[in-house]
Amino acid sequence: MSRAEELDAAREESAGCRRCDLWRNATQTVFGEGTIRARALLVGEQPGDAEDEQGRPFVGPAGALLREVMGETGLSERDVYLTNAVKHFKWRPKGTRRIHDTPNWTEIRACDLWLRLELASVRPELLVLLGGTAAQAVLGRSARVGQLRGSVLEVEEAEMPVVVALHPSAVLRAGERRAERRAELVEDLTLVREHLAR
Ligand code: SF4
Repeated sequence: MSRAEELDAAREESAGCRRCDLWRNATQTVFGEGTIRARALLVGEQPGDAEDEQGRPFVGPAGALLREVMGETGLSERDVYLTNAVKHFKWRPKGTRRIHDTPNWTEIRACDLWLRLELASVRPELLVLLGGTAAQAVLGRSARVGQLRGSVLEVEEAEMPVVVALHPSAVLRAGERRAERRAELVEDLTLVREHLAR
């Protein structure tokens, strides 16, 4: 089986996943997207409201910001595969809206299978962990974005170099500090682009 076939098989199997309870209140599994030849695999936290409805990762406001900053830093969408640590939308109601709810450690561990299969198929040169949930999913429960971002890490938990970056939703939630946080995301993705250019 080719790597692309392996990835397609994992995507199909994940559609019926019941490894944790998050499937119960979500519309569908949101698997990763991108070329099998991606040089960097970017991992976010979980699908949001728009992703849950469309069945595609990073199609909501955070995804729009991510693509905007990728464009500014010269990171081509052709070079990346986009996915999330958790593949179902976890939410709680607020009025008529569905509000993001952070996945817990049990859910992160249950969903790790799919991320591992994506990594094994795509085999990227660089793994980019966007935000605390993605960092913890790969590097362990004590991983903190603020302590780990800013350099390319060689860690035994991953078979390729790792960059820990801000999640674009952290920029969107930053209020008065939004410009500052956005500049940090630009720094993080510049580091990714520079690493790929070496
Ligand atoms: S969140 Fe992940 S582990 Fe849980 S049901 Fe969905 S795909 Fe399966």
